[in-house]
Order: sequence, then C-alpha cells, then structure tokens
Amino acid sequence: MNVGELIEDGLKEVLAPGKGKAFYEKLSAPEAAIRMSLNENMLVDKSFSSTILQEVARGVDMRRYPRAKGGSALKAISEDLGLWEDQIIVGNGSDELLDLVAKVFVGGGEALIVEPTFEMYRLYVGLARGKAKPVPLREDFSLEPEDVLSAIGERTKAVFICSPNNPTGRQYKREEVMKIVEESGKLVVLDEAYADFAPQSLVRDAAKYPNLLVLRTLSKAYGLAGLRIGYGAGDSELIEWLRAAQSPFSVNSIAQEACKLVLENKRIYNNFIMRVMEERKYLLAELQMVNGVVPYDSDANFILFRLMGDMKSSDIQKRLLAAGIEVRDRGDMPMLENCLRVTVADRESNMKFINELEQSLRGNK
Ligand code: PMP
Repeated sequence: MNVGELIEDGLKEVLAPGKGKAFYEKLSAPEAAIRMSLNENMLVDKSFSSTILQEVARGVDMRRYPRAKGGSALKAISEDLGLWEDQIIVGNGSDELLDLVAKVFVGGGEALIVEPTFEMYRLYVGLARGKAKPVPLREDFSLEPEDVLSAIGERTKAVFICSPNNPTGRQYKREEVMKIVEESGKLVVLDEAYADFAPQSLVRDAAKYPNLLVLRTLSKAYGLAGLRIGYGAGDSELIEWLRAAQSPFSVNSIAQEACKLVLENKRIYNNFIMRVMEERKYLLAELQMVNGVVPYDSDANFILFRLMGDMKSSDIQKRLLAAGIEVRDRGDMPMLENCLRVTVADRESNMKFINELEQSLRGNK
C-alpha cells in the first residue's frame, strides 16, 4: 500500500516542499557551529540560566502530569501582564498556538498572510485545510493597511501579521495594525515573538478587541527556546475557543515552572535584553561597513542583509557554514533575493561572523 494515497491532494501540496528534508532537521547540532540561524538568545547568561533550570528541576515531580493548559505559567503570565487568566492561553511554544488558531478559526477558509514572513503560518493554515493568500509588503518592507483591507474576500477568516516581522526585522506602527483590527472585521493574529526587543507591544491592548489575538513567546528574549513556552492574549471568548481545542498537557511541568521563575526575575532578564539591543547596534554598524552588503534596520534580535554583488546568498550561507557559522539564507523568499538573516549573538561571535563574511565575499573561503 502507498500511504501517500491516503493524503488529500491539497494537503500533499502543503507538505511536499518540506517532506523528509525540512530545514529544521538539517540544522547542525547546537555545539557544532556558532548558531546564528534560529534567533535564540545566547546573551542570557549561561550560568544564570542553569541555576533557574536546577531550581525548577528540584521542585518538579515528573511522575505527575503537569498542571493542565499551562496553569502555573498562566498565573505568572497573567500577573506579569496585568490581564485576567481567561484572557490568556499558554502553549507549547507559540507554534502550538499558531496551529490551534489555524484549526479553530481558519479551517477550510482563507487566511491573509502579510509576506515575506515566518513560513509556519502557511504550513498551519494548509494543515487545517485552509488557503493561505499572501499580501505583499511594500518594497521598503513597510505595511500598507489598505493592501490588507482590499485583499479581504468573502472566505477570509483571519489575517496573520508578524511584528517585528521575521525576517525583515521591522516593527509596524501601532496605527497601521489597529486600522486593520478595526476595519477588517476579521480575526487579526499579531505575532509579537520579537516584541521584547522592539519599542512597543500591543499585548496589553489585545483583550480590548474581540478580534485581536497577540502571540508572544519566551523562546527568544527569555532564552527558553528549549523548553517550549509561548502565550496568546485576547478577548476571553476568543481565548476560550482556543483553549477548548488544546490538548490538556501540552505544556510540560519544567517549562511552566521555568516560566514562573523567569518572570519573577524579569529585571535580570531586562539586562540580557538590553545587551542584545546593544549588540544589534554594533552588528548593524559593522554590517554597514562591509562592502557589497546592505543591512536593514531591525527591531528584533536578528538582522536581515542583502548581497549586492554577483554572489548568491545560498553560496555565502554555505561558505559561512564551512567556517563554522550558521546563518539563515532567505534568498528564496519573495522580495528577498540574495538576502541572509543573522541572529545577534555575543560580541565574539558577532566579530567572527563579520570577519568570515568579509572573507567569504572576497572568495577566500
Ligand atoms: N513566531 C515567529 C515570528 C518566530 O520567528 C518563531 C520562532 N522561529 C515563532 C513564532 C515560534 O516560536 P516558539 O514556538 O518557539 O514560541
């Protein structure tokens, strides 16, 4: 029997591009290269992070199921945001929440996706049997709300907006997003995975609008990528529907307790976040000085840059990897020909990256 025959044609189209060789599975082991490809936050102090984990491990009895629906983390997040618990859903990373939104609210309908952006929106919408309809950004990567509003059709259920946007790094203006929330009459999913590195956030406003869901994660700024914890904030009815669809124990006990402890130590984490912002400034200035490279200003913990000469971004990505530095080639995305994305890291890694990039561009590698 050919199991492929069991899969609907439409779904095959969604799954086939990544089949067996998904990007994430091809990544090198964390210790094999300086990993500047996944927007992790290595500026969170390693020994502080280990202390948190040890403390959490001491208190967790792993023979028991975790608190259902991320209950302990939920309490901590609600206190941190000043929102009620019924206005928040905790997930196994914000990835789980994106998946739930697509299943519950998009289904077989259509979702507008402001592109180029995080490619998982497309996958989850497709898995839910929905249709992903791209709405391109303007050439300078700015968002024109009218472009989104005029793309809305009868089957449109939701609009996915990532701000700060991965991979362009740009945060959209509050008024631009709010115009779409107020005038679209559709669910607006605002993915703020990188908002901790940006000037503003709409997370505290989310519960004021029936159709706005703001997603956040502790994977980036708070250095919990390995534990998988994210959350969504919105109107309590919207949250209730999502929670009804969520499996009860998707957020494990260690992640929940670590989330609590991290938020209790938020002031310390703010220092780590500040360091990322300082390093971002340094890295941007350095990239601006590299011949043949145009970097884009960023509100996130990564920087997108374009190669202007004859070199292909895929070749430079390979050369850098051979030199022990992993960055993300984004040259295959719409509007991003010959673009690469590099995660802001510690000073030593940032310097090494710049040095290796210069050598790779000169063809010395
Ligand atoms: N949204 C965006 C824009 C991201 O870049 C990522 C991580 N790459 C996620 C969501 C998912 O984050 P997590 O599942 O780790 O919370």
